[in-house]
Amino acid sequence: MSQIGLDDIERLDLGDPVAFFRDRFEIPDGVIYLDGNSLGCLPKAARERINDVVAREWGQDLIRSWNTNDWINAPTRIGDKIAKLIGVKSGEVIVGDSTSVNVFKCLTACLQLNSDRNILLTETGNFPTDAYMTEGLAAIAPDRITARLVEPDAIIENLDDTTAALLLTHTHYKTGRVRDMKAITAAAHAAGVPVIWDLSHSCGAMPVDLNGCEADFAVGCGYKYLNGGPGAPAFTFVARRHQEKVFPALSGWLGHKQPFAFDDTYTPGPGIHRFQCGTPGIIGCAALETGVDLMLEADMAALRSKSSALGDLFIQLVEQRCGAFGFEPACPLEAEDRGSQVSFRHPEGYAIMQALIARGVIGDFRAPDILRFGFAPLYNSYADVWNAVDTLRDVMTTNEWNQARFKQKAAVT
Ligand SMILES: *Cc1c(COP(=O)(O)O)cnc(C)c1O
Repeated sequence: MSQIGLDDIERLDLGDPVAFFRDRFEIPDGVIYLDGNSLGCLPKAARERINDVVAREWGQDLIRSWNTNDWINAPTRIGDKIAKLIGVKSGEVIVGDSTSVNVFKCLTACLQLNSDRNILLTETGNFPTDAYMTEGLAAIAPDRITARLVEPDAIIENLDDTTAALLLTHTHYKTGRVRDMKAITAAAHAAGVPVIWDLSHSCGAMPVDLNGCEADFAVGCGYKYLNGGPGAPAFTFVARRHQEKVFPALSGWLGHKQPFAFDDTYTPGPGIHRFQCGTPGIIGCAALETGVDLMLEADMAALRSKSSALGDLFIQLVEQRCGAFGFEPACPLEAEDRGSQVSFRHPEGYAIMQALIARGVIGDFRAPDILRFGFAPLYNSYADVWNAVDTLRDVMTTNEWNQARFKQKAAVT
C-alpha cells in the first residue's frame, strides 16, 4: 500500500461533507480529542441552552416551568428524538436515569415476560456494569434468579428454555467489535429469549435498526456520542409489543398513570411512560436534547462512513509510522465489524496514554493493556488522526512515555 502523506490528509478534510459540524463544538486549543466515546465534547449551543434553563426557566419561571416550559414531557420528547437514531417508533424510547439503572429496568421486565425462566445471560469481558446488574438482581432472590456469565462465543449455545433474558452490548467498549444484532436477536427469539441491547457505543456512532431486527429492549448512554454532557441521562427502548405487559419493578410515581392523583397504589402509565421512575434532571435533559438535536441534523450514513474512514486511517498510519514500537491491533481491522473507535495493545499502554494526554492527545486506557482512540465523526478531522499518530510516534521515538509521572495510576483512566 502506498504511503499516506499530509497532502492526502488535506484532501480528505477538504472533501469531508460533515466537516462543518466541528465549528458547532467547543474544542479546546491544543487538544486532539479522541475520547468522544467516553465523554462527548460540549456543543456550543448547549452552553446557551443550559444558561437559559437555569436563568429563565428555573430562575424566573420556577415551578410553573413543568407546564409552561414543558419540563414534564422532556423524557418522552427527547426519547422520541433518540428513537430516530436507533430505528424505532415514537413512543418506544424514554430518557432518564443511568444506563445501569435502565439495564435493571429491562432485566426485571424480561423476568416478568418470562416468569417461568430464571437465567439472566450475559458475556464475559463486557463493560462490567451490565453483568454487575445481573448479579445484584440475582442476589435479591437467589432461588428465583440466576446470573450466568459465559464466553462471548458461547452465547448462542447457552440459550435455552431456562433463559429469561440475554443482555449484550452491540459495540464492545474495548475492542470496538460490533455484534450482528439481527442474527443474534433471531437466534434468541428462536429460543423464546428477549434480548436487551446495550447501545452505549453505538447510538450516535452508526445507524442502528432496532425495529428492523425485531429487538425487544435497549439501553444507551447520553454522554458519549450523543454529546449530552457528563452524567447525562441515559435512555431505554422497550418495543411497543412488550410495554403494557410489564409492571415496572422501579414503579416510581412519575411512571404512574396519573401521578398527580397521588393514589395510594400504583397503576402503570400508558406505554413507555411506565418506564420513567422519578423526577427527571431538567438541566441534564436540556444539555442532552441539544446534543441529540445536533446529531439529528447530520446524515447518519455520512457519519458512519466518515467514522470508518477515520478508523481505517488511524490503523494504517500506526502501521506506517509506528510499526517498530510493538502496538498490536485489538480491534477488528475491517471497518464494518468495528464501532467508531480503534484500540491497540501495548504492555506500556497506560504510561504511553498518559504521555499522549500530557501532549494534548486525549484517548483513554482500558486495563490491562489497551490504548483506545474514539472518533466522533461530527467533530474529529482527518488532520486529528494524522496529528495524533504523529504525536504517538514522537512519544515512542523519544521514550518520553518512560517517566515515573506517567506510571502513576489516577482514579479515572
Ligand atoms: C459507558 C457504558 C455504560 C455506562 O453506564 P452508566 O450507568 O451510564 O454509567 C454502560 N454500558 C456500557 C456498555 C457502556 O459502555
